[in-house]
Amino acid sequence: MTGETPYRVVIVGGGSAGWLTACVLAARRPGLAITLVESPDIPTIGVGEGTWPTMRETLANIGISESEFLVACDAAFKQGSRFDGWVTGEAGDSYLHPFTLPPAGDTAALLHAWAAMAPGMPFAAAMTAQAAACARDLAPRQRTMPDYGGALNYAYHFDAGKFARLLGRHATQRLGVTHIAADVVATQGAPNGDIEALVLGDGRTLAADLFIDCTGQAARLIGGHCGVAWIDRSTVSFNDRALAAQVPVLPGSPVASQTIGTAHRAGWIWDIALPTRRGIGCVYSSRFMADDEADAVLRAHVAAHVSGVDVAALSPRKLSFATGHRARFWQGNVVAVGLSAGFIEPLEASAIVLIELSARALAEALPASPAVMAVQAKRFNDQFRTRWERIIAFLKLHYVLSQRSEPYWLAQRDPATIPERLAEDLVLWREQPPSARDFPLHDEMFPAASQHYILYGMGYGLPLPPPAPAITAAAARIAEVQERARRITAALPDNRSYLAAIAAQAA
Ligand SMILES: Cc1cc2nc3c(=O)[nH]c(=O)nc-3n(C[C@H](O)[C@H](O)[C@H](O)COP(=O)(O)OP(=O)(O)OC[C@H]3O[C@@H](n4cnc5c(N)ncnc54)[C@H](O)[C@@H]3O)c2cc1C
Repeated sequence: MTGETPYRVVIVGGGSAGWLTACVLAARRPGLAITLVESPDIPTIGVGEGTWPTMRETLANIGISESEFLVACDAAFKQGSRFDGWVTGEAGDSYLHPFTLPPAGDTAALLHAWAAMAPGMPFAAAMTAQAAACARDLAPRQRTMPDYGGALNYAYHFDAGKFARLLGRHATQRLGVTHIAADVVATQGAPNGDIEALVLGDGRTLAADLFIDCTGQAARLIGGHCGVAWIDRSTVSFNDRALAAQVPVLPGSPVASQTIGTAHRAGWIWDIALPTRRGIGCVYSSRFMADDEADAVLRAHVAAHVSGVDVAALSPRKLSFATGHRARFWQGNVVAVGLSAGFIEPLEASAIVLIELSARALAEALPASPAVMAVQAKRFNDQFRTRWERIIAFLKLHYVLSQRSEPYWLAQRDPATIPERLAEDLVLWREQPPSARDFPLHDEMFPAASQHYILYGMGYGLPLPPPAPAITAAAARIAEVQERARRITAALPDNRSYLAAIAAQAA
């Protein structure tokens, strides 16, 4: 790097990871010379349709308007995740993990106030008006609100293929990213192990200061060139297969406000509502369920939950995935983002948000001269290793609190499969609810409030009670939530009419 030569970044891979990283870097570091190389023949994974509220800030920062995004990606609002059948599997077993936080203040007091004043009300419904909005398929915002602002916190569901294409157009046409359609067939290494250049299928070479591996499960650079070890986490997180189907919906049918995850005997089924279809997929562990049984579970679910579908005509796509992550995500002048860095099953949609956070961290770190590269890499690796541990523990929490008795669910509760930190947390949380002290990163993906929604949604015991005046004050805050729920459900449009109106405006 000299004062005159721009810092060169080459991204390999044109899935969500590649194009999101390209857009974030180009928007936040306009001085970088960014090239994205994408194989014309290797398809993207084509799933990954549930996101986290960080996506609003990401889209705003890279300069895409909300209505352009919603229309181009066939997108809908996501206000959280609902978990059906996870506690006992009996009828009515359902709880919500909404994105809007509970009222501020003493969590133990809120819990005891909830138990005293509304023991029959689900925890999430007592804590946020979002539960009422989700129950009625309402949008989290009115159309007159500024882009990306809402009455309730929200993310999106979208068509993954359309999302990558929108980002690709935006990156190349508005943000100055160079696009090359070619296969990376080899790497040219430097004596210190760095990559000097990529060799493309047509014989061209592509040199850069930094290479970002977004090649998905192939991990062509971080695994192939750098040989960074894969850390298997399948002893904690059992699911390693998915059957994904796209299910047509009847015109005018309601568009759900949350991802619905329905437990089955050896995994769970996702249901993601878009305006034109539902993405429904069966996630399972190949140790506990055969592919043909998973196929039958998926079809039975669709038949029971979607009207007017010819279930026999569905042709679900089978996806196999390794569960784990790299020992390091930044090695030499190579950084892994997306599936090349790792993957843990799609429960709670933690993958795309991790891509966003990786791209943001990289934008802070670049340009990185060879002199500081090792320091930047170490900090990045420390930060993202912590994030992976947090994701793994948070997802496991959904399983360890279950009371289901099938072998898969019993195995999930085997103490030998529970990360040590989570086991400690569960002891601590018997007396004190999760707090910011337990989750101190400034941008925790799953802060204390997320843990509250899972724990108390699944019926975890209440912590020690605080003094009575604190409980009385908390009861007033819960009453305010109920009043807000009444006002908000009267004022917000439903998802279907909101999305139809912006599609009509764009046509
Ligand atoms: C069943 C399932 C469900 C999921 N659901 C969710 C969800 O709801 N929410 C969420 O956040 N995440 C989800 N994910 C994860 C999400 O799909 C991925 O994190 C996201 O799509 C990013 O993928 P990627 O870009 O890393 O890889 P891919 O989409 O696989 O892209 C890889 C790219 O690399 C290119 N490539 C590969 N090799 C070469 C080469 N040699 N030369 C040039 N180019 C090459 C390919 O052409 C392609 O463009 C899910 C994953 C699975 C398996």
